[in-house]
Amino acid sequence: MPLIEAHELSRVYDLDSGRVTALDRVSLAIETGDLVAVMGPSGSGKSTFMNLIGCLDRPTGGHYRLDGVAVETLSSDGLAELRNRKLGFVFQQFNLLPRVDACANVELPMVYAGIDGRTRKARALAALNRVGLADRAHHRPMQLSGGQQQRVAIARALVNQPRLLLADEPTGALDSRTALEILGLFQDLNREGVTVVIVTHDAEVARHAHRVIRFRDGHLLSDERQEAADART
Ligand code: ADP
Ligand code: ADP
Repeated sequence: MPLIEAHELSRVYDLDSGRVTALDRVSLAIETGDLVAVMGPSGSGKSTFMNLIGCLDRPTGGHYRLDGVAVETLSSDGLAELRNRKLGFVFQQFNLLPRVDACANVELPMVYAGIDGRTRKARALAALNRVGLADRAHHRPMQLSGGQQQRVAIARALVNQPRLLLADEPTGALDSRTALEILGLFQDLNREGVTVVIVTHDAEVARHAHRVIRFRDGHLLSDERQEAADART
């Protein structure tokens, strides 16, 4: 059973100025263990697609199953619960809370999941250790480099042991050397079994995926497998 199964997935916005078809009958499956790059020009539907597969938005047409669950049958609370349990999100601008330290940032998804403080702290520290930041647990975001902040964000995304990591331009705010380190981390996590989907404008980033999906005007333009470049070499 694929982790993600989209069938004729559509998202239409009804605006005063008319209808905008942001995503037009997209069908695809993503298997557990894949590392996928999503590409396409601005306005082609990448964010819309990510918001749908990330259960942040609902389709106006078609069907979507995440890990076998028919998402359209869930209430808003059910969606939020599914999101917190199965998905991790990573963003271009890291989206960390500036006033608390790395450890507290990583604990946040566990606060939502109702996990007790002692367990949260232990798991947050283990996640920071996993991304190579054990010695930065008590630094605030401002006291960390961009690459380190993105590592904290990745630790936060991992802490509930998600099936799927969704990253929206995760290297867009980083220099190319730091970007490669972050891609190396995604590749390591992928080898450990985490399914990863990365939206990127950058062909250099996409070279590190096993599969490249391209959108244009809300349509799936192409879907190709490739030999992924190794970020560690
Ligand atoms: P991308 O992420 O590839 O830049 P988007 O998915 O953001 O593309 O947008 C696809 C299309 O849907 C664009 O034409 C965009 O203007 C439109 N769109 C996206 N979000 C909204 C919204 N909330 N309301 C109206 N139109 C939207
Ligand atoms: P943008 O691409 O517009 O700069 P982001 O990359 O920050 O925005 O976010 C991408 C999408 O994820 C947006 O549609 C936003 O609503 C959603 N989002 C932003 N922050 C969070 C969050 N903390 N948890 C879940 N979804 C979020």
